[in-house]
Amino acid sequence: MIYVHVPFCRSFCIYCDFYSEIPCGDGLFGDFAAALGREIRHRAGASGLGSGRSRDGLMADRNSVHTLYIGGGTPSVLPLSVLSAILNDLAAAGVDTDFEEFTVEANPDDIVRNGPGYAEGLAALGVNRISMGVQSFDDGLLKWMNRRHDSGTAVEACRLLRRAGMGNISIDLIFGASPLSDSMWKKTLEQLLTLPGGQPEHVSAYQLTVEPGSILGEMAAAGRYSEAAEEQCLGQYAYLCSVLRDAGYEHYEISNFSLPGYRAVHNSAYWSGCSYAGFGPGAHSYDAVRRERSWNEPSLKNYLAAPIPGSGGSEVLTDGQAAMERIMLSLRTAAGIPENELRHLAVRNAVDKMLSEGNLVRLPDGNVRIPEDRFFISDTIISEIV
Ligand code: SF4
Repeated sequence: MIYVHVPFCRSFCIYCDFYSEIPCGDGLFGDFAAALGREIRHRAGASGLGSGRSRDGLMADRNSVHTLYIGGGTPSVLPLSVLSAILNDLAAAGVDTDFEEFTVEANPDDIVRNGPGYAEGLAALGVNRISMGVQSFDDGLLKWMNRRHDSGTAVEACRLLRRAGMGNISIDLIFGASPLSDSMWKKTLEQLLTLPGGQPEHVSAYQLTVEPGSILGEMAAAGRYSEAAEEQCLGQYAYLCSVLRDAGYEHYEISNFSLPGYRAVHNSAYWSGCSYAGFGPGAHSYDAVRRERSWNEPSLKNYLAAPIPGSGGSEVLTDGQAAMERIMLSLRTAAGIPENELRHLAVRNAVDKMLSEGNLVRLPDGNVRIPEDRFFISDTIISEIV
């Protein structure tokens, strides 16, 4: 599993507190590609990337999957030549670039602005899944969020991607924003399911949260934004679950829905605790065998000067941290966790209490899970278990 972090955005959405920079000139992309290449070569030498230990050759464990995920930030600001250079560097380091799943995150505005050749170029590079940040099909809400696309652009981007042969599109949506009325949410979901080329294969939907470092955080601190009421958020989440269930989607993780056969392979492996190698400023890596997490420092300037793997720090998870992560990640999924394992990891009597209260239910395979109608309060349930 390989993740590449692209720290560029052409504008900043009001709810986002991720580190990213507005690119000033295409020359910066070339410098970024060169730095990524240096990090890939460095790690190939240091840890045997492509040495034959595994298909990824880097910190792989037997459960890992062969995927590439280019995320950000906004990877679709990168020209095709830079994406191609990343693949070439990975191949030169011995990575098999015939990935089971190759996802690129995209902004609809980039897909439309760059025209059909860009979408076709992505497909030609082997990209077989696009994760597109649509967030809403309501133009007023998109403007309020400071997204740089409107609903028509999102629809057109889907049309271009389908024409280019993209058979796996994931759409990100946001609910639970104060200005998002229930009727706006209903219309957004109607448009989602009538996109050109058919329903998206995958949907990720997140409740808007106020992050202190975001523009929205500043607005809230200044009294210019109040979070949506709990009933509004719960109602919109419940409606989402019901509409997508009726449309044939499997609700396989709290925020994720897929048509049968289209679960996100890369992200599912994160939730299973697999190893992954992250490249780029701020990217994290995890060695599941050694239970060691490391990360690059986020500064683009420092990364371009010296892309040192693990420059941000590293830690080996304690037994307690590993247990907590295992519980938190697995109970976010519909598959849940084996009951015996949870009893071993959880605080005493918590599993019996949660089962008796209906906050956990048993599955036929011996696992327990949080029932779908209580996913919305999963944080509270999990906090009683860990
Ligand atoms: S939400 Fe995405 S596009 Fe918007 S500022 Fe954050 S990283 Fe950039």
